[in-house]
Amino acid sequence: MKINFLGADQNVTGSKHLIQTNGYNLLLDCGFYQGKRADSNKLNSTLPFEAKDINAVILSHAHLDHCGTLPILVKNGFEGKIYCTPATAEIAKYIMLDAAEIQKQDALYFNKHVENPADQIYPIYSEQDVLNAVKHFETIDYFKHSNQWTVLNDNLRFKLYDAGHILGSAIIYVEIKEGDPSASSGQVIKTLAFTGDLGRDNSPILPAPQYIEEDVHTLITECTYGDKNHNPISDATGNFRGAITTVIKNKGKIIVPAFSLGRTQDIIYILHKLINQKAIPTIPIYIDSPLAEKITDIFPKYVTDFNGNFQKDFGYRGASPFLLNNITYVRTIEESKSLNNKPGPMMIISASGMCEGGRVLHHLKNNIENPQNIILITGYQAENTLGRKIQENVSPIKIYGKEYNIRAQVKTLHEFSAHADQNDLSSYISHVKNLQKLFLVHTELPQATIFKDLMEKSHPGLPIEIPTMGQSFEV
Ligand SMILES: [Zn+2]
Repeated sequence: MKINFLGADQNVTGSKHLIQTNGYNLLLDCGFYQGKRADSNKLNSTLPFEAKDINAVILSHAHLDHCGTLPILVKNGFEGKIYCTPATAEIAKYIMLDAAEIQKQDALYFNKHVENPADQIYPIYSEQDVLNAVKHFETIDYFKHSNQWTVLNDNLRFKLYDAGHILGSAIIYVEIKEGDPSASSGQVIKTLAFTGDLGRDNSPILPAPQYIEEDVHTLITECTYGDKNHNPISDATGNFRGAITTVIKNKGKIIVPAFSLGRTQDIIYILHKLINQKAIPTIPIYIDSPLAEKITDIFPKYVTDFNGNFQKDFGYRGASPFLLNNITYVRTIEESKSLNNKPGPMMIISASGMCEGGRVLHHLKNNIENPQNIILITGYQAENTLGRKIQENVSPIKIYGKEYNIRAQVKTLHEFSAHADQNDLSSYISHVKNLQKLFLVHTELPQATIFKDLMEKSHPGLPIEIPTMGQSFEV
């Protein structure tokens, strides 16, 4: 079997791994590269393989950097099935439609400001391309629910474990038979697991990642936070209380750039819990992301997949954990703009999470120069994103071509990560049975190097690779 590393290698975006065995081409994830516009356009509009040569795709989860180039794959002639969990199928559709809309708006805006028609940019895919892609979805339940493998051919079958990262996220476990049973060398069974993105042991809503019961000869694991440990989620209480108390005093606003998927629901759940416990003062909270509202509506359908703490706090009560008197879901652009004229204190939770587009840009533009306000970063900010610049206080920043000085306080809450931290990753890998080869992906090189050193100490003799994009390995 040959593993081709084609994305999220020494970076955290554009996840793509091609497994080639017995003439079968299995693609694990087909993610969108998020970064500088020029790089992103180039890396997303073409694929590093012939789309029609791919037999099947297994999608680990619905984040754009894992599913976002499926429309390109289908547009270029892919005819197979895209396997994923039912929640992933529902969410990925919204995520990709949102991406198509962002590309459309981005091109409209950009082209207004270019003089030479040759410099115009175009959306990489359209809403119709997304709708064509989702027709290829074939939903597969977690093995814990179905107790069934999915057979791709006589030599290849897989099952999905719960990754606990976002709703519907899966660890993909593949069993491959290679060799000729009638030959003297016989047939060998090889096993491979791809973590996708791995959740934490103590997430607010989701359970810890499931351990794999079988042997895993080759593990491809994400390693976003291979270098550090997160603060416990309970620390968020003090940070929220501090930020809210400050803006009550200042009559300011807290702007929270948050991923519409996962992070927004985690924050609502935590705030709801803290308000119920009277642990934080109540201020108006606006969820200004139509996408977040659509995704939040999906959550109650899968409440049985949530963790024990959630069940204890809210039981199996449908949507109620995500509804609260002081929370307003902002729908129209007019409502969103009107927030600018409303006096603080208030909290505005808006997308995109890395400040690369979406309504949060307007809120940042209007609030980032005011020292009464707080920008609360709650998620991973990839290199070269506006979110990373704000997080690192690289002032001035540019929004829609205009410069703004960062005068608001910028705070980062690390406790909200949906990714396993160093301890979680080490512990997860220590539970993997019969591991023979480890690949570290979905990570930047410094983090990967620190984690590799740690793994070399705890697993002496285990071959560990940090692949570069385009690198292939026979296993
Ligand atoms: Zn993810």
